[in-house]
Amino acid sequence: MEGNIPNIIHIMQEEIENPVSLHEIQERLWLGNLTAASDIKVINEHKITHIITLDLVPLRRQITELSELTTKFVQIADVPKEDILSHFEDCYNFIDNCLQENGTVLVHCYYGMSRSATIVIAYVMKKNNMPFDEAFELVKSKRKFVHPNHGFQHQLKLYEKMGYIIDKNYPKFRDFRLKIAADQVKKVKILPQTSIDLIKPDPGVVQVKPEPLVYRCKKCRRIVASQSNIITHLDREAQINHKLKEKHRIRHLTAEELAAENEGNKNADDVPEEEIEICRKTYFIEPLAWMKDICQNTQGKLYCPKCNNKIGSFSWIMGCQCPCGSKVSPAFYLVPSKVEWSNVVQNVQVTV
Ligand SMILES: [Zn+2]
Ligand SMILES: [Zn+2]
Repeated sequence: MEGNIPNIIHIMQEEIENPVSLHEIQERLWLGNLTAASDIKVINEHKITHIITLDLVPLRRQITELSELTTKFVQIADVPKEDILSHFEDCYNFIDNCLQENGTVLVHCYYGMSRSATIVIAYVMKKNNMPFDEAFELVKSKRKFVHPNHGFQHQLKLYEKMGYIIDKNYPKFRDFRLKIAADQVKKVKILPQTSIDLIKPDPGVVQVKPEPLVYRCKKCRRIVASQSNIITHLDREAQINHKLKEKHRIRHLTAEELAAENEGNKNADDVPEEEIEICRKTYFIEPLAWMKDICQNTQGKLYCPKCNNKIGSFSWIMGCQCPCGSKVSPAFYLVPSKVEWSNVVQNVQVTV
């Protein structure tokens, strides 16, 4: 049994560095570390029937092959850029099925701090229709050092905004997935199959229900984008000016006015997005089926699919800085002087 020795040493080291640690977040839902999930005694003692592992490697076979145990493995690193959001629904169902069968589930990662905590928080949010902050506090009250990394916190907040479901049409979810895809392109230099659905149908071809507002190539008038393809960004200059004005305004408030304002918890930095101008200096759009080479190249030019006139550019990795100062990345954009707005309804015969 010579071959097992390094393995045993490895496990012993693990236990010394990372002793068994798990907490019950709600009845029969446990959150813990790798050492807890690797310990048959712990599993038996807590009557654990289901385990979700969020890590780079699955649990040892001695654990996953236990006949009375159902396991699920999600391969993920604890880095902010990882897409954990795409696993929320699957893990939710796994946990919920287990609890409904009166089982006991342990969700774990290496420390039981970030990855596994994110999954448990997402579960608590959806199950109770509870905003992120509240669910985070609740989980923290049971296991005080839980701390999803900032990227995972952002994804939990996005989940809250989508109403605890994955809403593929939600613009911020699309932007999030584009960023994840850009990160993949950076690593492997092509767009992976798992992200291919981010490339939307050509608005100049499909159109069962055409959108009223479209962008056309100025030279040949072909439709190159629809209103829903636009990725909006805020005008950075307008944003800065707004903040300066706001600071100036606050500086000139009387003591009473200022007190009243503080009472209402108004913060000069919390500027609602609607109040700031949406920038139109560059037309950023989502990747579309007519764009050649965007799956194989990390950057390049965009040519009109009909007249071949150069109308824009794309860059998965570097992105593009708009003249307003905002950086958009990844970026697929049309140059405003090369395209024009038009109203498709004008060209459709309307039967009264
Ligand atoms: Zn054209
Ligand atoms: Zn801009």
